[in-house]
Amino acid sequence: MKKPVYLDYAATTPVDPSVAMEMMKYLDPEGVFGNPASRSHGYGWQAEAAVENARRQVAELIHADPREIVWTSGATESDNLAIKGVVGQRSSARGLKSHIVTSVIEHKAVVDTCKWLENHGAEVTWLHPESDGRVAPQAVVEALREDTALVSLMMVNNELGCVTDIAAIGALLRERGVLFHVDAAQAAGKSPIDVASLNVDLLSLSAHKVYGPKGVGALYVRRSPDVVIEAQIHGGGHERGMRSGTLPTHQLVGMGKAFELAGECLEQEMVYLESLRSAFLSGLGELEGVHFNGSREYRVPGIVNLAFEGVDAESLMLGLRNLAVSSGSACASATVEPSFVLRGIGLGDELAHRALRFSFGRYTSVTDIEFACSHIVDVVRRLRAVR
Ligand SMILES: *Cc1c(COP(=O)(O)O)cnc(C)c1O
Repeated sequence: MKKPVYLDYAATTPVDPSVAMEMMKYLDPEGVFGNPASRSHGYGWQAEAAVENARRQVAELIHADPREIVWTSGATESDNLAIKGVVGQRSSARGLKSHIVTSVIEHKAVVDTCKWLENHGAEVTWLHPESDGRVAPQAVVEALREDTALVSLMMVNNELGCVTDIAAIGALLRERGVLFHVDAAQAAGKSPIDVASLNVDLLSLSAHKVYGPKGVGALYVRRSPDVVIEAQIHGGGHERGMRSGTLPTHQLVGMGKAFELAGECLEQEMVYLESLRSAFLSGLGELEGVHFNGSREYRVPGIVNLAFEGVDAESLMLGLRNLAVSSGSACASATVEPSFVLRGIGLGDELAHRALRFSFGRYTSVTDIEFACSHIVDVVRRLRAVR
């Protein structure tokens, strides 16, 4: 049987073949398998050189200094390290309680970390975004308090694809001396990122959303002005004490190569994905009762969230057997609750239950989009007819 067409790039991407090829050089007895922390022989030195090259490649995509990149196991860990790291530092070094500002449509890695901190003495203000999914800079400023330790907001929402004005918020927070953490897992490789002009202090990245391997990511930690975070994983003092654990050379090399490719392909890929998105939307143009969720103007092109009147997402997904798509976020789709993100932008339960996310990427073809459109039109019509 033919494999379903993959339209779930926001959940994960396949590893680019050139990335996989690079990674293989760092595994077997003939390869560079040494421990990058081994200082006494060439096996270690070579591995260390590969790790530092990857660090430079990741830094370059976001215009950071390589010394500002801390390796982690993925954006989930980066989010935890950034938020708990700032709050923990304030509490251990200065005995201060912390107030955090975030939003109700963040990734679970941020939402659940903030909830956990709420149960451990921190206070959290949960902002509601505008109905287009973007958090208004003014709302952030109004939420600030004397004891605000950190604002944590995502750049691109993983369910909606909309882009919040991080630069505007960053400028306001820098003026007021409040730290700013940004989850950019869905922004890297999809839109330009410049940590200097964004005035961001901490920024989370993941490899597997950018054609790199799963299980590896990074946290950007600003050096000037210097941001100090408390380690969450203790051990050998790797990564300048911020994150211990033997560095997985092959994973890091894979992330580095993937980020280098992302930088090279960025402009061209944005144009290509925009053309797929417009083909997709016009292909569905003959269907009535389709709602577009999230900002139409401020968005990355590869993520489209649509609600279909009169058809629930679960039945539609079952009907769309030849497409791999998701309802809500991948993590939330094990439950039948409507997506908290869609509810967070004020969608009623009814429409929230009717929404699907379609996400395209590097290996999506025009033929895939044409196929998807005719398949969706067929199934939606069939489901509406039997109501
Ligand atoms: C995928 C994703 C994460 C989690 O990244 P992992 O590397 O899978 O831990 C965090 N935030 C956002 C916005 C994501 O899309």
